[in-house]
Amino acid sequence: PLGKLCKLCKSEVPVVTLTTQNLKLCKNCFSKIQQRRLSEAVKKYRMFGPEDRVGILLSGGKDSATLAHLLKKTFPEISFQGLYLNLGIRYYSDFAQKAVEELCESLSIPLFVYDLKAEKGFSIDDFVFTSFKDKICSVCGTIKRYLFSKVARELGLTVIATGHHLDDLLSTYLTLFFNGDFISIKRLVPVNLPLFEGQAKKIKPLYQIPEREIFFYAVLNELPLEGCACPHGEITPSKKIKGILEELEKENRTFKYQLLSVFLKGFIPLLRENFEESTLVPCKVCGEPTASVHGICGFCRRVNLLSRIEDKTLELSLAKWQK
Ligand code: SF4
Repeated sequence: PLGKLCKLCKSEVPVVTLTTQNLKLCKNCFSKIQQRRLSEAVKKYRMFGPEDRVGILLSGGKDSATLAHLLKKTFPEISFQGLYLNLGIRYYSDFAQKAVEELCESLSIPLFVYDLKAEKGFSIDDFVFTSFKDKICSVCGTIKRYLFSKVARELGLTVIATGHHLDDLLSTYLTLFFNGDFISIKRLVPVNLPLFEGQAKKIKPLYQIPEREIFFYAVLNELPLEGCACPHGEITPSKKIKGILEELEKENRTFKYQLLSVFLKGFIPLLRENFEESTLVPCKVCGEPTASVHGICGFCRRVNLLSRIEDKTLELSLAKWQK
């Protein structure tokens, strides 16, 4: 039981607890607090203004659905563009697309759908047959980042918003820290300015909102969600760290915000002074910018691997047929 009345409006029944302040709130007051947090983040980092064309990356999940709902409610004057990548993942991609279409329709946000199989002739599922079979999520991440950046440029978007929340940021910081990947930590901030002309600014307006509260926001506002899990979902180190963060939060309610502050105000400024940004060059295959020492971007390297496997399969089938 959360008590009789909401701590803020003192008239409605409380339905959710705001962990950090231990406040029991009704749906309306809870939603208003999340809108205020989002608005503060956008203003603090000057994430976008009326002159921008803002794209929202939608996945069919709770994080991006909450992001779209909050952005639309908080900034009704801005015209947002929804983006969905159909990666051809068996049953999951089509379910997720349906949820995204429903969400965009209910919020009157125009939606652009990119179909990987139709455009490039392969899907994420095809990587199950490659040496990446145990790292499908990593391949998926590379492909998504590449395509969103490219599609955003083609649509003339100046800003792309993603649904990364507080727990995503913290668990990734710690994973990268344990791997000694300080360059990637340096880049993981609420706003990434374009590194080359024509690239959209990347923003994370939910960076201060804990995952648990995003879940409640999506449920309380009855947002349409994909309703099934991706068949490639793995227990990654980052997911394990999320569990540890939850435990630590039980001991100290503000632990997550303290850790965020350590990274954003202490560690990242230090890293900026000591690590230079890598130079980008156009990829030798597709022309998109890459920091790879071989001059071929991650996307093209993975596509090349797939085509080599297809050639090998064709060779084997021909040999069998000729016998
Ligand atoms: Fe991609 Fe992995 Fe997410 Fe599935 S679980 S959509 S493969 S990142």
